[in-house]
Amino acid sequence: MDKVALITGSTSGIGLGIAKRLAQAGHSVILNGLATPTLNETISEVKTLGKGEVLFSDADMSQPDQIEAMMRMIEKQFGRLDVIVNNAGIQHVAPIDEFPIAAWDKIIAINLSSAFHISRLAIPMMKKNGWGRIINIASAHALIASPFKSAYVAAKHGVAGLTKTIALEVAQHNITCNAICPGYVLTPLVEGQIAATAKARGISEEQVINDVMLGEQPTKEFVKIEEVAELVYYLCADAAASITGTCLPIDGGWTAH
Ligand code: NAD
Repeated sequence: MDKVALITGSTSGIGLGIAKRLAQAGHSVILNGLATPTLNETISEVKTLGKGEVLFSDADMSQPDQIEAMMRMIEKQFGRLDVIVNNAGIQHVAPIDEFPIAAWDKIIAINLSSAFHISRLAIPMMKKNGWGRIINIASAHALIASPFKSAYVAAKHGVAGLTKTIALEVAQHNITCNAICPGYVLTPLVEGQIAATAKARGISEEQVINDVMLGEQPTKEFVKIEEVAELVYYLCADAAASITGTCLPIDGGWTAH
């Protein structure tokens, strides 16, 4: 049966890549995120990839009431929700003693709390259907830390804990919950932190790319969006029914150090 999948933060980067892969697989997809100048083209492009429906919600993942409204819309439209990919995320790079409180609160809300809200609202629908997949796009920073990313690292470690807890609670309902932990993927989020990291570390932007980012990854290559999307697709398959409660690195060997 064709499934219904919600991917948060899917107007660009990794989330958009995942939405495209799941649309190709025949799923109906709900795109979400901040509107971009090319939003209409993006929605049309995802529609052409498969035979499922494509909807867009601009719900702000830092606002629980907007998340609830989006979930009610999905239930009304489809009467089911089979796959959720909690992917929306933002970053702020600064030393802890200069870290803006507003940036801390926003990162915790979008990168961690939205996964809690979406999961708590989706699980009853999944239980009703006796099947579900919860996939949290965490980060290598769910497993290890880097300086100047206190909120991001704290939120992503929180996602790892949330993933394990949900997996235990839903294990007997044919629902799995896993976290994917990518290393550096060249997306707008990463492009946007190169200058800030250069400033925080007092080095050039080129050094940030080669020494800080790719310096961490033994392959010396960025992880590709398509590689993350393919892992999501696999976790959605029935063959992955016994994979649950895991934090799966896809990081060119970074966390093997
Ligand atoms: P991106 O900036 O390209 O995409 C982020 C998405 O989140 C966009 O669609 C944006 O509109 C959406 N978003 C931002 N704020 C939102 C809000 N308040 N409400 C709803 N949507 C919002 O970034 P990306 O690199 O594709 O990151 C996607 C996820 O992957 C994030 O959770 C990020 O932490 C994680 N990740 C990225 C990397 C990387 O190197 N790029 C590595 C590990 C993990």
